[in-house]
Amino acid sequence: SKRIILAKRPVGMPTIEDFQFEEGPLPQPGEGEVLIRTSYLSVDPYMRGRMNDRKSYVPPYELGKVILGGAVGEVILSQADEFQVGDIVVGNLGWQTHAVAKANQLKKVDEQLAPITTALGILGMTGLTAYFGLLDIGQPKAEETVVVSGAAGAVGTVVGQIAKIKGCRVVGIAGSDAKIRYLIDELGFDAAINYKATDRRAVLAKECPNGVDVYFDNVGGEISDDVMLLLNKHARIPICGQIALYNMTKPDFGPRMQSQLLITSSLMKGFIVSDYLQRFEEGAIQLAEWVKEGRLKYREQIAEGFENTVDAFLGLFTGENLGKQLVRVK
Ligand code: NDP
Repeated sequence: SKRIILAKRPVGMPTIEDFQFEEGPLPQPGEGEVLIRTSYLSVDPYMRGRMNDRKSYVPPYELGKVILGGAVGEVILSQADEFQVGDIVVGNLGWQTHAVAKANQLKKVDEQLAPITTALGILGMTGLTAYFGLLDIGQPKAEETVVVSGAAGAVGTVVGQIAKIKGCRVVGIAGSDAKIRYLIDELGFDAAINYKATDRRAVLAKECPNGVDVYFDNVGGEISDDVMLLLNKHARIPICGQIALYNMTKPDFGPRMQSQLLITSSLMKGFIVSDYLQRFEEGAIQLAEWVKEGRLKYREQIAEGFENTVDAFLGLFTGENLGKQLVRVK
């Protein structure tokens, strides 16, 4: 079996040298555990945060230990009554070709419902993040304007489409013209803006003629500053991610836009998807229904081969991915 460990703590943008491939014997499941062969693994921006030795909502990754993260795989040996050989499961299995896990830390994946990759994206962590962050904190109402940054990624694509389902005007912000076209032509966004365009602030103002009622923030930094200038009274701003800041070696202080919250009586609230653990079932059922009805589309970008895991991860920070980035292991 193979696995990828954290060899060094990255400084700034991670590099391939921060990781190390290891090979070893197949791990053996104990009582109440199963052995899983990984089929697909997830690479996620939040993993960058866990590579720092800093207190956060999850403990940092340990040096020399496997990088943990979401994965789906097949049970190939079971010492637990809950699972049989051949079951497809999802869990926090990590960047490894085989994993041993306790039965109570796994969820069975219904292969009839949708392709099993969706358990890591639209019907899994990133879909639920969009669902709860937008609906619970954003509270979008028909006719309102919803702006989402990181719009062409795993979370952003779902946020924009749910906002459309709720009858909003939806404006996405993303980093390439191909992504902009995808958001408008295939996902039905009303407008989308390439943030690398120099007149971003003006274009944003033009596309939000009635101001901004909900700003779903995946990126932070200057993009968010520009959106904040357009807030309407009683706007809501779910803070989902700050990817523009994850690789900074020094905190990015500077003129920021809290005064906009003040003068518009707006609400900004951070959240972690696990805050909604008790409601995951509800969210997953609704997302699956929208997918089945064709109202929620999704795109997965799948890197071929375990050896490409680190590259796929690094690509998140240069915008290589459209939709959910995954790695096919075998
Ligand atoms: P994405 O699929 O959106 O991938 C990351 C995208 O971010 C890239 O494709 C890139 O697109 C964009 N990006 C990268 N660097 C920058 C930058 N410096 N400035 C602006 N955009 C950048 O990832 P996810 O959908 O999985 O995650 C989106 C955000 O949500 C992340 O910040 C993540 O940490 C957060 N998140 C939070 C959760 C929570 O519980 N709060 C749960 C899951 C995710 P582009 O080409 O447009 O630049």
